[in-house]
Amino acid sequence: MSPVETPIAYVGIGSNLDDPETQVRAALDALKRLPRSTFRGASRLYRSAPWGNADQPAFVNAAAAIATRLPARELLDALLAIERAQGRVRDGERWGPRVIDLDILVYGDARIDEAGLRVPHPHLAERAFVLLPLADLDPGLEIPGQGRVWALVQRIDTTGCTLLA
Ligand code: ADP
Ligand code: MG
Repeated sequence: MSPVETPIAYVGIGSNLDDPETQVRAALDALKRLPRSTFRGASRLYRSAPWGNADQPAFVNAAAAIATRLPARELLDALLAIERAQGRVRDGERWGPRVIDLDILVYGDARIDEAGLRVPHPHLAERAFVLLPLADLDPGLEIPGQGRVWALVQRIDTTGCTLLA
């Protein structure tokens, strides 16, 4: 990454509790107010069948593109703060229902594998509810180490993920 270029971060958003569509829109608004950052665009909203633990409500998912001078770790902290502000309580259940989930999907061309921060997000390439919103933002986006979004979409089953009416 050139030092003069501001990296573009792609943030994944998901909710399946407490009026998910409202939660996703609130998260998008909060992302517009991130410090040292310029909001570049939002995907459409998608409805997706629950994953992980299938016995839970459907999700609403979206993604946002943000040009940011926040280092990845500070961006993650800001995302977790937005989650807390929207009332997310972590009960320890992995992949259980959540009021709001904000993930760093991609951070420029960075590849990060640290405790508590992996970028690109590890399961990105398997998940329609991540790839379809990313394709709205930029189908030609190169996921570091994995290829372009449009090519990744062609490899997965997208039937469980539909545009929110
Ligand atoms: P998930 O999003 O995988 O369902 P959580 O939202 O509960 O799980 O996140 C658990 C932890 O995942 C966060 O506290 C964070 O430290 C870690 N994490 C690792 N990589 C990322 C990333 N790229 N984006 C967001 N969180 C991440
Ligand atoms: Mg998360």
